[in-house]
Amino acid sequence: MRIEDLMRLICMLVLVGVCGGAWADGAGVVAKPAIVSAEEWGSKPEAIPAERKHVPKYITIHHAGVVYKAGTDPAKSVRDLQAYGQKEKHWPDLPYHFLIAPDGRIFAGRPVEYEPETNTTYKTRGHIGVELMGNFEEQRPSREQLESVVKLVAWLATEYKIEMKDVGGHKDRAETQCPGKDFYRYFQDGQLMGWIKGTMEGKAVRVEPGPALAGGPVEEIPRK
Ligand SMILES: [Zn+2]
Repeated sequence: MRIEDLMRLICMLVLVGVCGGAWADGAGVVAKPAIVSAEEWGSKPEAIPAERKHVPKYITIHHAGVVYKAGTDPAKSVRDLQAYGQKEKHWPDLPYHFLIAPDGRIFAGRPVEYEPETNTTYKTRGHIGVELMGNFEEQRPSREQLESVVKLVAWLATEYKIEMKDVGGHKDRAETQCPGKDFYRYFQDGQLMGWIKGTMEGKAVRVEPGPALAGGPVEEIPRK
């Protein structure tokens, strides 16, 4: 065998090994969901100081805590939240990394490489913040929002190698009602983690909202 042929054979074996390993790890099974980019929704971010760069280790899920009314333009509400944070809180960019509209659209917020912001007290370093629009103490999340949060978290957990035990609701981190009882219920009954794990394993997951909770909200969030 000529030395070039031997080298070619070694390269092929290495490639097979690398690809085979990636396949066994499950990498590549979870597709990145469609995300409305910052340019598309008209973001006007300020520079975030370099010392606020972090390595994502946790995923923390929020609701907006504001009742979503029919006729709201989700892109405008993302722009308004960014402008409010800059003016009132001195937050250079959105407090969250991703925001999910009632129709299931995912909007890109603060770049993931920077730690998020909070009005409560917990160490935000290492957390990826995902917000669902609406107030789930008073309205019910839509099926589309549940489907999108499952796809997004499954992709983020795969991309950043985040363990399921490190995925939680805001109330798991701090004193708050967030993400609201009609969303947090899916953490409590284990369904949310089941949907996320199934998606990460490449299974066809059917996200099924449960019946209204006793004493919980009855009205579903308007989709537009
Ligand atoms: Zn929150």
